[in-house]
Amino acid sequence: MKQQVVKKAYAKINLGLDVVGKLENGYHLLRTLMQQVDLYDVLTLTPEKEGIFLSTNSEIVAADEDNIAYKAAKKMIEEFSLPGVKIHLEKRIPVAAGMAGGSTDAAAVLTGMNELFELGLPEGKLREIGVSLGADVPFCIMGHSALAEGIGEELTPISGMPEMCVLISKPPIMVSTKYVFEHLDIGNLEHPRTDEMLKAYADGDLDLAISYMGNVLESVTAKKYPMIGELKEKMLALGAKGALMSGSGPTVFGIFDCPSEAEKAEKALKSMYPDVFVQAAGLV
Ligand code: ATP
Repeated sequence: MKQQVVKKAYAKINLGLDVVGKLENGYHLLRTLMQQVDLYDVLTLTPEKEGIFLSTNSEIVAADEDNIAYKAAKKMIEEFSLPGVKIHLEKRIPVAAGMAGGSTDAAAVLTGMNELFELGLPEGKLREIGVSLGADVPFCIMGHSALAEGIGEELTPISGMPEMCVLISKPPIMVSTKYVFEHLDIGNLEHPRTDEMLKAYADGDLDLAISYMGNVLESVTAKKYPMIGELKEKMLALGAKGALMSGSGPTVFGIFDCPSEAEKAEKALKSMYPDVFVQAAGLV
């Protein structure tokens, strides 16, 4: 057993998001290009004789049994008859943003406890446990870039993404993913051209890939919150090659060629919108 494990839990953005069907249980079938970005929570795990002790710096997310990091620890303890664990969660990813902030914490607890207790579990087993906690957890365990299908758990890794930088902006709006899916008119969507986008990325043609970018969930979230369209327009005006809402929102990201351009836009956007979380980030 190790004394301590420290994990970076990376956020994700959706470089494209399509909904291609709906199951009887209400879950939606997705086709989405998920991409981890260099914006992360930090989780510090230490062994305990018994129990789960969770603390956090967050004023928004409670350090209780409802926290998905707690639920992930509980699953590991029950499934592998482990003693206890102490977890400190330093929250840096905005909450309810469409960046899988909770899912990535759960993924870090699963992989972190695997390391802490030297269990030697393969990634496949951790992903299997992860999907019972949330559809985005398996991607957060696998990391980097992947096409996610099914409810988000069928993953095809994508390698060789071209160089790019993103500027992330999260307005002070809390969006419920459940609300967005419930209000989606799935018979009436403008589907993005995901296959063409993937081919363009594989060919290293960033401009072409960006021209195929789309997120069908904007039809609900951006309609309800005009701020999302406004941020997209501002990103483009500040030199972004493309801009899109991530997940169910309200995060909007812009794609830039190099860090210096993204950082310049970061400064400008921050001064225009002091209430908006704004951060430039690279891909992971
Ligand atoms: P996704 O992109 O997967 O839809 P999200 O980024 O929109 O996720 P989260 O930040 O994961 O949303 O938060 C969704 C809800 O989960 C929040 O209302 C929050 O209270 C709850 N939650 C529970 N545990 C956590 C956690 N560790 N971090 C963030 N939110 C958490």
